[in-house]
Order: sequence, then C-alpha cells, then structure tokens
Amino acid sequence: MGPMLKGLIELQSVEGRLRGMRARLTRFKRAVVMQQQVLKQLETTKQTHKDTIADSRADVERLELELQSRDEAVNKYKDALNKSRNNKEYVAILTELNTNKADNSKIESRILEYLEVIEENRKACEQLDSDIEKQNQTIEDVKSKAADKIAECEAAIAEIEAQWNEVAGRLPQEALELFKKLSDTYDGEAVAFVQQTGNKQVSYSCGGCFMNVTAEAISQLISYDDISQCKNCGRILVIDEKNEQK
Ligand SMILES: [Zn+2]
Repeated sequence: MGPMLKGLIELQSVEGRLRGMRARLTRFKRAVVMQQQVLKQLETTKQTHKDTIADSRADVERLELELQSRDEAVNKYKDALNKSRNNKEYVAILTELNTNKADNSKIESRILEYLEVIEENRKACEQLDSDIEKQNQTIEDVKSKAADKIAECEAAIAEIEAQWNEVAGRLPQEALELFKKLSDTYDGEAVAFVQQTGNKQVSYSCGGCFMNVTAEAISQLISYDDISQCKNCGRILVIDEKNEQK
C-alpha cells in the first residue's frame, strides 16, 4: 500500500471523528429545542383553559339575561295573581308562575355549573403559570449549559475540519470524490479493512460486508497504490499494516 491508500485510511479516521462531533453538536442543540417544545405544550394547554373560561363566561352572561327577563315575568304573574277575578283564572296564573319559577331555578343551577367550570379552569391556569415559569427557568439553565458544550463542539469541529482538509489535500481528486460518495452511503465508512481468517487455508473478506475478497486482489493491494473496491459493497479495500508485515 502506498501514500494514497494510507491517506484514505487516515481520512476515514478523521471523518469518523468529524461525524461523531457533529452528532454531539446536534444533541446539545436538540436538548434546548426539546425544552422549548415542553414550554410550547404548556402554553397551548393554558390557552385551551383560557378559551373554556371565555366560553363559560359568555354562557353565564347569556343565562343571567334570560334569568332577568324571566324574573320580570314572574313578577308580572304575581301582580296578575293578586288581581285575578275568579278561581279558574287564579289557578291558570299560578301554574304559569310556578312553571317560570321552576325554569328559573334550572337556569340558576346551570349558571352555578358554569361558574364551577370557570373556577376549575382558573385554578388550572394558575398551576400552568407556575409550570411555565419553572419551564422558562429550565430552558435558561439548559441553554447556558448547552452553550458551553456547543461552543466546545464547534471549536472541535473547526479543528477536525482543518485536519480533514489537510489529509484530503494530499489525495487525488478521483479518490477523494469516491471516498465522499461512499462515506455518505456508509455513514463515514468508505474504507474497509480486509479481514483474514483461517490458518492453513487463509481466506480474505471485506471488513464492511464480510464477502470474500480474492487473493489476487490482496496481492494487488499490497503491491500497488491503486483503489480496489469490494465487488459486493463497493467500499475501498485496504490492508491492516500490522497484518501486512506478518
Ligand atoms: Zn464489501
């Protein structure tokens, strides 16, 4: 193996560190976003309670108006009752009066139900206000902790990227393009070490997909600095230098 294949092995190692650090950065950024989502959920829930309160208040107002007009009706019937001229008329007015009174008490209990709903939702809003305040503190806390980690990651990424560019600069354009393409396909594992198995009857396989690699391919790899791809997965095959020296 010559400088190109060795350069590809080195690039793969840098690529692995780069991907690892980028994943770490994403996790720290996501930690803040996740807490912000919790806050958003709390705010949405609070809004639902506020809407219920507004609806119930409108219902109470409507029922109070209805109650008022029915109370006026009851008073009219009471007057009429006093002025009734005979028993038949008296009984008829009394029936109307009692019906209206009964309706009124139904409306009153409905108003009470709505008032209870308002109170329950008001308490829920109070609890949510305190939860929202706590969650805002949590977000600030996570943000400040994550900020340090994010800065560390970004600095590390810049450093690794510089190394990546340095190693990549030593490689032929074609080899680099192939490396990038395979790296995207195999999550940073463009290069596969050839695995050696067996003692008397030695056989070789691709370290990426474990399919057989011919002995001719191995001797090519040892003798030349050419790219040889696995026939099955397409990864760039390389030899572990320690094995090569054996
Ligand atoms: Zn393979």
